[in-house]
Amino acid sequence: MNLASMPRSLDEAVEALSATPGALAIAGGTDLMVEINAGLLLPRAVVALADVPELAGWTVHEGHLLLGANLTFAQLSHPDLAVLAPALAQAARAVGSPQVRNVGTLGGNIGTAAPTSDLLPALTALGAVVTCRGPRGWREVPLGELLAGRRRPALLPGELVVSVRVPLTRGPQEFIKVGRRNALAPTVASFALVIDLDHRYIGCAAGAVAPAPVRLTEAEQWLATAIDWVVGRVADPGVYDRFGELVARQLDPVDDYRAPAAYRRHVIAVCAARALRRALPTR
Ligand SMILES: Cc1cc2nc3c(=O)[nH]c(=O)nc-3n(C[C@H](O)[C@H](O)[C@H](O)COP(=O)(O)OP(=O)(O)OC[C@H]3O[C@@H](n4cnc5c(N)ncnc54)[C@H](O)[C@@H]3O)c2cc1C
Repeated sequence: MNLASMPRSLDEAVEALSATPGALAIAGGTDLMVEINAGLLLPRAVVALADVPELAGWTVHEGHLLLGANLTFAQLSHPDLAVLAPALAQAARAVGSPQVRNVGTLGGNIGTAAPTSDLLPALTALGAVVTCRGPRGWREVPLGELLAGRRRPALLPGELVVSVRVPLTRGPQEFIKVGRRNALAPTVASFALVIDLDHRYIGCAAGAVAPAPVRLTEAEQWLATAIDWVVGRVADPGVYDRFGELVARQLDPVDDYRAPAAYRRHVIAVCAARALRRALPTR
C-alpha cells in the first residue's frame, strides 16, 4: 500500500478512487483491515470515507427512510431509527461485539456482501434500493440486483454506495439470527420478516444459506392468504408452523464447515415460524 487519502466530500472520494486504479474504499475497516492484515489484500491505495458528509446520517423522505452508507451498526440500532426499521435494528444489534458495532457500517456490509452479512436479509425483506455514485454518475439499483449470484456486489469500478432507501411501513418486522454462540458469532442461518399492514405486503428473506440472501416469494404469497389483513392476525395457530415448512421447502441451503444443509433448513423453518408468531397473534 503506498497511498492513503481522506476526502472531505463525495466528489473528492470518487475522484480519489478513480485516480489510482486498484484503490479501495475503507469505512470502518472491520472487514478490509482483516483482509489486509492477513495478507489477502494489498490495495494500491486506500480512500477513507469517514469524513465524507454525504454518507452520514439518515432522513425520512416521501414515505421512505434514506440511510447513509456510513451509518454504523450502533447508529442503526438507536431507538429513534429502530422504531422506523425494526428488522434492520434487530439485525444491527445481532452483529459482532460493541467494538465492531461502533465502527462497522452499512456501506461496508454491502461492500463485503458476505453470506453472513447480517444487514442484507433484513434489507432484502424490506425491498431496499441502493443509491450509488461513481465516475459515470449516479444510479439506483435494487439491492437484490447488486447482490445477485456474485461473490462481490455488482458495483462499477470506482463506484461507492452513498445511501440505501427502504419504505416506511406500518406493521411488525422481525430478524432472527442463529450462530454457534450468542455473541461474536458468524451467522449459521438468519431470517427476516416484514409485514406491511397498509399495503398488504410481506417480505421475507433467509440469510447465510446461499451466497446472497434468498427472497422467499412462495412463502410470502401463501402467508398473504393466511392473514386477516383487517385485524392484522393469522387465522389459526397452525399457520406459524405451516409458514416455517413452506419457507424451508423453498430453500436449498449450503452445506459447509459451519453447518450441514439439513440443520440450516431446520433452523430456518423454526426461525420463520417464531418470527411470525412474534409478529402476528391468532384471530
Ligand atoms: C470480530 C468481527 C465480528 C464481526 N461480526 C459480524 C456479524 O456478526 N455480522 C456481520 O454482518 N458482520 C460482521 N463482521 C463483519 C463487518 O463488521 C461488517 O461486514 C461491516 O459491515 C463492515 O463494515 P466496515 O465499515 O467495517 O467496512 P470496511 O471493512 O471498511 O469495508 C468493507 C468492504 O466494503 C467496501 N466499502 C466500504 N464502504 C463502502 C461504500 N460506501 N461504498 C462501496 N464500498 C464500500 C470496502 O471497500 C471493502 O471492500 C464482523 C467483523 C469482525 C472483525
